[in-house]
Amino acid sequence: MNSIKAISLNLLIPLFITAVFAIVIHYTHKIPNILFDIVPYLFYGLSLLIIWVSWHFNRNRFIFVIIPIILLHLGFEYFSAKGASFLFLYISMLFPLHLLIFLVLKERGLFSLWGALKVGFFALEIMLVLYLIYYPDASILKYLKLKLFAANFYPLKDVSVAIGIFVFFVMSALLMFGRYLMYSSTFLSLLLTFYLGLYFLKTPHATEVSFLAFSIIIFILLIRESYRLAFYDELTSLPGRRALVEDMAKLGRKYSLAMCDIDFFKKFNDTYGHDTGDEVLKMVASKFLEVSGGGKAYRYGGEEFVILFPSKESSESFTHVDALRQAIATTGFSVRNKKTTKKIFINVSAGVTQNSQKDKDPFAVMKRADNALYKAKKAGRNQVIKA
Ligand code: GH3
Ligand code: MG
Ligand code: MG
Repeated sequence: MNSIKAISLNLLIPLFITAVFAIVIHYTHKIPNILFDIVPYLFYGLSLLIIWVSWHFNRNRFIFVIIPIILLHLGFEYFSAKGASFLFLYISMLFPLHLLIFLVLKERGLFSLWGALKVGFFALEIMLVLYLIYYPDASILKYLKLKLFAANFYPLKDVSVAIGIFVFFVMSALLMFGRYLMYSSTFLSLLLTFYLGLYFLKTPHATEVSFLAFSIIIFILLIRESYRLAFYDELTSLPGRRALVEDMAKLGRKYSLAMCDIDFFKKFNDTYGHDTGDEVLKMVASKFLEVSGGGKAYRYGGEEFVILFPSKESSESFTHVDALRQAIATTGFSVRNKKTTKKIFINVSAGVTQNSQKDKDPFAVMKRADNALYKAKKAGRNQVIKA
């Protein structure tokens, strides 16, 4: 289960946008109309930017999420009142499911088979909605307008509310137990923004402002995603070497650091295969994430990790690194072979040191830690040595 802290941190920004949007709706009558005139332009501009950036980052799910909203915007503008009301009805039920599907589906190139299937699925959705707008079917409408709740959610239909509640719970479960916190938190607030926008359909400008809020939420996610791509390691989700260099430049007068390396990892790969090696590397990395004493772990490269301890002496950080070494050594990692599941044990060695006045830069300190690590390897591995 994901920690409450991580969940709240991820929810903070998108929910903040949703909240600002809700406040704006509440005070629409106090806001000068001229400000609302630019809302559609901002929305279209930002949406095009989202499509462009998503395309370049190969984050196509956002293209599939923003285009329906653009189409909806256009539909509300250009359909007759009757057509628009059908559009509203169908989209209020289909889009929440669409959001969920594109949250869950893996990111793949648009020109792969999966990409083509996604495009095909999306085209089918559009055709279905258009068909039902032009040829509404009384028996289908009867189901869509089924009464399920005692309360009235006008202009939303009960079926749409029921779908919304279902999607809300699935997304919340993904937020609590899934791997992609940043995405599930964003999609959850997209869902809320969407429903608020539709619910306040009759409030002047509310729906348009909700579409703008929708695009802002996605855009912020893309910015955070670019940060993650630059500073975090893809395999282990630990901060990478670039983040280490940045953080080392910010270190204070006193600090210590540890250089760590998995023992005999080449042999492990040779025995169990590279893919299993990757899995174990991830599990070891998750142990590094939990290092005590205020240390921050980075994947330095390959099976090597660095831990920074700001304002700690090496005697102190030694204790924390050794506790980590012990925790890793005593944790059996389940490795699934072709037939059996086997528990195997992995060791790490580490060298710890602290900075001194003679060190010109943090890299000199790292070199010393590396020498200590080398000694730990020489001395038989599975140990921490203080320089
Ligand atoms: P030592 O105890 O001396 O550190 O032995 P070692 O085999 O771990 O040392 P060495 O540095 O020579 O080998 C590191 C190996 O780690 C080489 C490579 O096969 C493996 N490795 C590095 N990065 C990855 C990775 O991302 N995934 C996997 N599966 N293996 C990796
Ligand atoms: Mg190595
Ligand atoms: Mg090694």
